[in-house]
Amino acid sequence: MTKAERMHDFDPKLTDLVLTYVRDRVLLEEAPLDFPGVKVDLEKEIEGMISANGHDPVKVLDLYSETLAKTILSTDSPRFLSFIPAAPTKASLLFDTVVGCASIQGMSWLEAAGALVAENQVLRWIADLAGMPASAGGTFVSGGSAANLSALTVARDVGRARTGSKDVRIALSHQAHSSIGNSLHILSVEPFLLETDDDVVTEASVRRSLAKDTGSTPIVGIAVTAGTTNAGIVDDLAGVAKIAKENNWWFHVDGAYGGAGLLSPLVRDLFNGLEHADSFITDPHKWWFAPFDCAAILYKDPALAVKVHTQDASYLDVLHDGLPIGQFNPTDVAYHLTRRARGLPFWFSLAVYGTDAYRDAVNVSIELARETAKLIETLDHIELVKDPVLSVVIWRRIGWQLEDYERLQTQLLNSQIAFVTPSKWKGETVGRFAFLHPGTTLDLVKEIFEHCK
Ligand SMILES: *Cc1c(COP(=O)(O)O)cnc(C)c1O
Repeated sequence: MTKAERMHDFDPKLTDLVLTYVRDRVLLEEAPLDFPGVKVDLEKEIEGMISANGHDPVKVLDLYSETLAKTILSTDSPRFLSFIPAAPTKASLLFDTVVGCASIQGMSWLEAAGALVAENQVLRWIADLAGMPASAGGTFVSGGSAANLSALTVARDVGRARTGSKDVRIALSHQAHSSIGNSLHILSVEPFLLETDDDVVTEASVRRSLAKDTGSTPIVGIAVTAGTTNAGIVDDLAGVAKIAKENNWWFHVDGAYGGAGLLSPLVRDLFNGLEHADSFITDPHKWWFAPFDCAAILYKDPALAVKVHTQDASYLDVLHDGLPIGQFNPTDVAYHLTRRARGLPFWFSLAVYGTDAYRDAVNVSIELARETAKLIETLDHIELVKDPVLSVVIWRRIGWQLEDYERLQTQLLNSQIAFVTPSKWKGETVGRFAFLHPGTTLDLVKEIFEHCK
């Protein structure tokens, strides 16, 4: 057998080697947090690994597991409380390996009907939770940033067509995710910065902002957030929906982190008005317990997205021809062509565990955020900066500066107790917990606060 032939030949030893690693990782009750690594040291460790003749797979995997993996923080550890953590279910992780093995080209019905019908079942379930109409549909893309960009491109083009103006503006608040601002920059759309009421975009705050607006470029859309990343704030979706309708604006809702709150009776009311969204995005790789990378994008009228995103190339004609009326290829509603069927692991997991389990798991984090707020009331050295809305808690250690929070971060990580990075709130450095893993406990929170004394 030639070296080239060997690459596609079944190798039982290699297979067992890698599958055993997968099994061991999935078996972990709690993934170790692990440590940050140093770039130059790591580069030295893997020097020469890409060579003409290759290496023994045992050696290569060993290098990965003993050196590289130890410098990759486990976002799925219940002790990872920074940024937005991950907490993929065991079923979704395992099925992710199946999706990888099967080389599914998820761009079209022609190539992947069986995958798409399952992914669409998940999208329909989310659309129903959001109260979106029967017409709603979309696809899964790599992340909230890609989803926001894809949706706002449609918002821009629809706005241009409605107003006849090439220059258009889209409204957003200072609390909107950075990817919204970046998307507008890429799209050459001018942002219209909204005032807020206590950091919430409300009907009144939008009306106030409009009354003061002196710009002449037409505003064609508004992007609001259902669960800001830093603080978990949900904008007044119902109020904004009303104004969007009055002004014939595109109504975009970014629920990348907070969208899973739809599942929880504890906070469901906050999402009222979402049913009017022209586009809604949410990240299953965040609070819906799916593996990276997976973001859902839903349009009220997917046909508008098809007009904007369909790629024309003669070799692709066969994908577009013969599609039943009203059906579209996932590749045609976002900025991508080839796509991993990244919604499938989520579908498998939902089908296995049932939606009640998801609801309960989301509730756990919301309840923990509330319990943490109560705990803080009993502590002399810690203050609550803001009442938690979803599952993020922002707090302050009285008298602390950035260096103190950084020292805490290092100390907690060195002792593998937790990963807690500081954030900022109105210019002040603050402590922040993002709860997402159902295995995170109040005892861990107490332990962290002990280290703040
Ligand atoms: C995380 C997040 C994003 C970006 O999502 P990625 O998946 O990281 O690209 C956008 N908006 C909000 C509100 C988020 O929390």
